[in-house]
Amino acid sequence: MLPVVALVGRPNVGKSTLFNRLTRSRDALVADYPGLTRDRQYGQAQVEEHPFIVIDTGGIHGDEEGIDALMAEQSLMAIEEADAVLFLVDARAGLTSADEGIASYLRKQNKTVFLVANKVDGIDADSAVAEFYALSLGDTVHQIAAAHGRGVTQLLTLALTPHIEALGQEKPEQDEEAELAEGEEMDLEDQPDENDSIKLAIIGKPNVGKSTLTNRILGEERVVVYDMPGTTRDSVYIPMERNGRDYTLIDTAGIRRRKNVTDVVEKYSVIKTLRAIEDANVCLLVVDAREGLSDQDLSLLGFILEAGRSLVLAVNKWDGLDESVKDRIKSELDRRLGFIDFARIHFISALHGTGVGHLFESVEEAFVSATKRISTSMVTKILDMAVFDHQPPMHNGRRIKLKYAHAGGYNPPLIVIHGNQAKKLPPSYKRYLMNYYRKSLKIMGTPIKIEFRETS
Ligand code: GDP
Ligand code: GDP
Repeated sequence: MLPVVALVGRPNVGKSTLFNRLTRSRDALVADYPGLTRDRQYGQAQVEEHPFIVIDTGGIHGDEEGIDALMAEQSLMAIEEADAVLFLVDARAGLTSADEGIASYLRKQNKTVFLVANKVDGIDADSAVAEFYALSLGDTVHQIAAAHGRGVTQLLTLALTPHIEALGQEKPEQDEEAELAEGEEMDLEDQPDENDSIKLAIIGKPNVGKSTLTNRILGEERVVVYDMPGTTRDSVYIPMERNGRDYTLIDTAGIRRRKNVTDVVEKYSVIKTLRAIEDANVCLLVVDAREGLSDQDLSLLGFILEAGRSLVLAVNKWDGLDESVKDRIKSELDRRLGFIDFARIHFISALHGTGVGHLFESVEEAFVSATKRISTSMVTKILDMAVFDHQPPMHNGRRIKLKYAHAGGYNPPLIVIHGNQAKKLPPSYKRYLMNYYRKSLKIMGTPIKIEFRETS
């Protein structure tokens, strides 16, 4: 399970500057999928080979209302759920009473806290940070200049990595993820078997109908084991079988607790959702037909794409709508979700069960696509055909030459293309190649990653 690192501190100390530096890969993703909004609060980062979730806890002043209150609640939950906290203070502004307030809150949380003095550029850092030792949080005040990147690598490698590694040893399934992240040659022995259980995460913001859907699915199917233990920070994993295929439903809504233990509605936790996405083979993103696409839906979509997970989209609450309303919703989805043309969209009613069975056809298809064995000779042959049909453009007066390709991994499928000036290909040609591969390999429901390597 991915470790979670929360960035905490009063406004203006540089949390979002540090967040941006840690999660830069997300910008590239957003550029690849016009129409996505980058989530400014939750992101994925990586130190050496260790991926982690980083959270910029916006405000924890305690006097928020409305939507701010919801965000503050998520911030406090983030701290509660975090494996480590980076507590930022401003080396230029010096120690403030707000810093002291936050420090005393953190001391009570019994968390691993790293105290980080930001903005040490252009000042005498050692004397500036001396007063922060009074906060008595750990024995070091880490010095960084987030805006310039100074000290950030040291903070990560010297402080955070050993901590994350220690966590990783408690949770051995992390290793597999790390190997994949290195992403070189595909190791066929590690490839999931097509008969493996499909881990299916049911993802969505609150009230879209996740638990109604989960109940519907389970009500129809034989549940192998149901009484699974779960803690507040983890999803409930429910094994089930359908059409002779094993599934593990990853239930982020916590229906077990809702039904059996108390009637208390499970708190929605973004972190729980992010971890479920990371752990799944296929994500079923549920959105509410009646509300249209919200920023929160798009940011969950961004996380699913960033994690490279297979995706099936369920537009729920499709019951009792006028035909004209249905048409309007469909055209809005077409317009705004054109960029995820690889994903199947289902219009369902979890309440009445309409369309729920067909979801599994797409889930199966997405899983098979994501884990398909692709041979190097095949990807090279497809490259030749694509180049033959439509040549790459010129760059600096020379034609870009794509020579050969190899299959670099699965889940999602990775294709590595080698050529002269291959990295100079414009986005339109990259999209062309992507679509060509998708059609030729009949891959649906999963993103395809293409990497380019220079050959001489
Ligand atoms: P947040 O409110 O904690 O998220 O703070 P921001 O990341 O928005 O930063 C607040 C201000 O501090 C911005 O004007 C940043 O440009 C500035 N800032 C952030 N990091 C540094 C730094 O390392 N050095 C200096 N000199 N300024 C910084
Ligand atoms: P969750 O927070 O995503 O788990 O959402 P719930 O499953 O608790 O559903 C939220 C509300 O939407 C409940 O009042 C459900 O009865 C209602 N709901 C769920 N699915 C449907 C549906 O397909 N049609 C209609 N009309 N209402 C639904």
